[in-house]
Amino acid sequence: MNENNLSKFRIEPITNFSLIENQKAMKGAIAKVKNQLNKEYFLIIGGKERRSGEIEPSVNPSKPSEVIGQVHFANREQANEAIEIAAQAFEKWSRTPPKERANCLKRCAEIMKSRKLELSAWMILECGKNWEEADADVCEAIDFIDYYAYETMNLFDKKLLGHVPGETDHYFYEPRGVAAIISPWNFPLAILTGMSSAALVTGNTAVIKPSGQSSVIIAKLMEIYKEGGIPDGVVNYLPGRGSVIGDLIVAHPKVAVIAFTGSVEVGSRINKLASEVKEGQNFVKRVITEMGGKNAIIIDSTADIDEAVKGVVISAFGYQGQKCSACSRVIVFEEVYEKFLNRLINATKSVIIGKPEEPETFLGPLIDMSALENTKKYIEIGKKEARLVLEMEVPKIGTEQCSVPTGYYIGPVIFADVPPESRIAQEEIFAPVLSVIKVNNINEALKVANSTRFALTGGIFSRTPEHIELIKQEFKVGNLYINRKITGAIVGRQPFGGFKLSGIGSKSGGYDYLQQFMVPRTITENTMRHGFAPIE
Ligand code: NAP
Repeated sequence: MNENNLSKFRIEPITNFSLIENQKAMKGAIAKVKNQLNKEYFLIIGGKERRSGEIEPSVNPSKPSEVIGQVHFANREQANEAIEIAAQAFEKWSRTPPKERANCLKRCAEIMKSRKLELSAWMILECGKNWEEADADVCEAIDFIDYYAYETMNLFDKKLLGHVPGETDHYFYEPRGVAAIISPWNFPLAILTGMSSAALVTGNTAVIKPSGQSSVIIAKLMEIYKEGGIPDGVVNYLPGRGSVIGDLIVAHPKVAVIAFTGSVEVGSRINKLASEVKEGQNFVKRVITEMGGKNAIIIDSTADIDEAVKGVVISAFGYQGQKCSACSRVIVFEEVYEKFLNRLINATKSVIIGKPEEPETFLGPLIDMSALENTKKYIEIGKKEARLVLEMEVPKIGTEQCSVPTGYYIGPVIFADVPPESRIAQEEIFAPVLSVIKVNNINEALKVANSTRFALTGGIFSRTPEHIELIKQEFKVGNLYINRKITGAIVGRQPFGGFKLSGIGSKSGGYDYLQQFMVPRTITENTMRHGFAPIE
């Protein structure tokens, strides 16, 4: 990590929506975006807009009849072509001075800052994020670009190792080639911007495949990349179905690095497929996968219950529980179990369910019908496995609280007395469904906390130093939080990512993330040569 570079990195401040002028500006941005709905979005290959035979509407999950954009989905031929074009563009982009590339990316971050509210508005409408969640998503996207641009500056300097007379030993990095960037819909802008800017700033070229549910916001990212000066062909926009073009992209012999964020099922498939060396491929692919979680917060008997309840509600139900970092298990000491549970239920009842475009909304819709059906299935499973203590109704149209339209809504659900090994306590549900588990002591709490196949985020609310110290050592997760919520990692300060089945690779927003997109080389030269033989 370079201290000088990092000292120049500043996180983008979130918007203060308690200020009337910011509220007005956000409402204005939503209204403006609403006037631009239902347009066509094309693939972008080699800087040119391309049509395909298949157009898929991207819809507003809180009102599926509202089409955000008509997106051309790539076919296999176009996926092949995009990779070939990216491979050609690599020759020049990889030789562009690193500083020039970094400045180009920094211009993109500046453009993003100037379009902050508009980008939030697109995500509010396309992905059902509330104002704060959408704003945080844009801020994180800006932070990723800025951070990687600063971090890259000195990475490419040749480092002199050792100081042996008569010999120089230089260590340096080079880009790998074409990067396939495959992303989910839940941090629609931040994740894809992070993975792609890391690839680009380090001199790789990219094909980017957003999730079908968040393709329009990524078309906006492409506008920014173009305006920021990323040359044609260096980044290619390939919306499409994972089931149609996913395997092809992953297995293509010219794709050198795959940066994926999504489910453990797809991530494991990618890892397996990418390990096969195809004809014409003379390298082993580098795979970076960020996958799911089944995250827990421990509440011990000395916890500040007010803080704990607040932290759990935000961690479990923020963005409808559709965060890889979300809390889906609370592990509570017996002494405070009933007290905590009652307070948790009452606090949850106070969350406002509504349209994400309304400023007061805390909880919006799930992303699509299949997510809604999957959640209902898990609620039925939960009813057999544990005690249902809250199944909050979604307010009907015209009620006092709000007017929820016909979207993919489900209210928060809490199960108590959940057996730690039950399905609802082990499987990622990706919805506002929370399991509360009773334990007797810290060792039992730890055993339960570590009992899933994931290791992403986790936390504890406690005022007992011994418990906190033990947790630091023995709660095996990628990101551990103490006496606070377990979501909302900040670039540079809280590098994010897990292990076990939560991911492979180093953490996004961390000082060693960029190295994954590069190959290290060492050059050793004997400088005790006998004279010179200059070229005539
Ligand atoms: P997903 O179903 O795994 O999809 C992720 C991406 O992979 C989408 O673009 C998808 O395209 C694509 N895909 C599908 N099949 C593919 C294949 N055979 N080859 C290549 N790509 C393929 O995940 P999701 O539902 O979008 O996102 C939710 C998951 O992401 C959760 O498990 C969550 O925990 C995880 N996540 C993890 C992190 C983290 O940092 N650890 C962050 C955010 C989310 P289609 O949309 O066309 O299917």
